[in-house]
Amino acid sequence: MKNYLAEAIDLTGDSYLNPVPAVYDNGQHPRNINQITSISIHHDASFREHDYDSVARYHSEAAGHYSRLGPGLQYHYKIDNVGQIFQIRPLTTWLYSVGSFENVTTMAICLDGNFEFQQPTREQLEALYQLIENLCTQHPEFPATWPDVRSHNDFSATACSGANLRDRILPIQDQVSAQAQLLNVGEYDWPTYQPGYQVPTPPPPAVAVPVKTPDPIVPASTVPTPPVVPATPPPIVEPDKQTPCASEAPSPAPTQPTTPNWMQQLRDFFGTTQGRTVLGVLATGIAPALMYLQHFQTDNALLAAAVLAAVTLLNTVKDALNPNVPNK
Ligand SMILES: [Zn+2]
Repeated sequence: MKNYLAEAIDLTGDSYLNPVPAVYDNGQHPRNINQITSISIHHDASFREHDYDSVARYHSEAAGHYSRLGPGLQYHYKIDNVGQIFQIRPLTTWLYSVGSFENVTTMAICLDGNFEFQQPTREQLEALYQLIENLCTQHPEFPATWPDVRSHNDFSATACSGANLRDRILPIQDQVSAQAQLLNVGEYDWPTYQPGYQVPTPPPPAVAVPVKTPDPIVPASTVPTPPVVPATPPPIVEPDKQTPCASEAPSPAPTQPTTPNWMQQLRDFFGTTQGRTVLGVLATGIAPALMYLQHFQTDNALLAAAVLAAVTLLNTVKDALNPNVPNK
């Protein structure tokens, strides 16, 4: 694991983040180091980018603290996404960090990010562990130790330090529980900064597949032209064997209308004397029959007309079927 503590940056010389005591509440926020009885853990509740200017971020947050709380940034330590630890304020200055009377007796560590929605980076948790361990084991001058590491919401009603961080702070009671909660968890935001980082070997190059080269473009002048084949003259055929073109196909010869056999047989029959006699009998027989019907329906002029039409029709049919026989 990287030694984040050894690379901590001291920003106490930044007079905006850490105003000199002369301009800070009339220079009165000092405390004795042995007053420190807790270590409060915070998030800054702002979305944490993958790549950003950490000091510029703290100046922006300090501006908000100037207007709402008091001069300077109200955290003693900040930890950014790559686990960089910044000391902002001396521990002998108490800050408005937990919103209660315990402001005077706590020291504040704030991690960049909104842990209601984001996860702390693995670097942040490792750096936090190293900083807490140092404070709890290397500073016997103040009484705070492992069980005194508390999330901000343990001091006053707040969402700070965000669900994804405070659930890791609550179980901390000793070094072992702190390691269990803060080490070997989460994802590195910048794994390339970690010691022993192995540059991933690139995958072996894919087996080269021969690319079919397109056929070379041949200049038009060199494109071989197909040999000219002399046109074959049409075969000479006898005029009477000439095959007519489709467009010159002769119109079919008019065909004689075919007469059905039964009609021809009827015509043959009625062409005989016998046949004409039958027709005559039919014509003279139907007429009295229809007249007889008319007798019972004398007022039916239509029936009379039908009788006349039937007789006329029969005579016409008889003449039509015997075209060669003069009508009598
Ligand atoms: Zn807080």
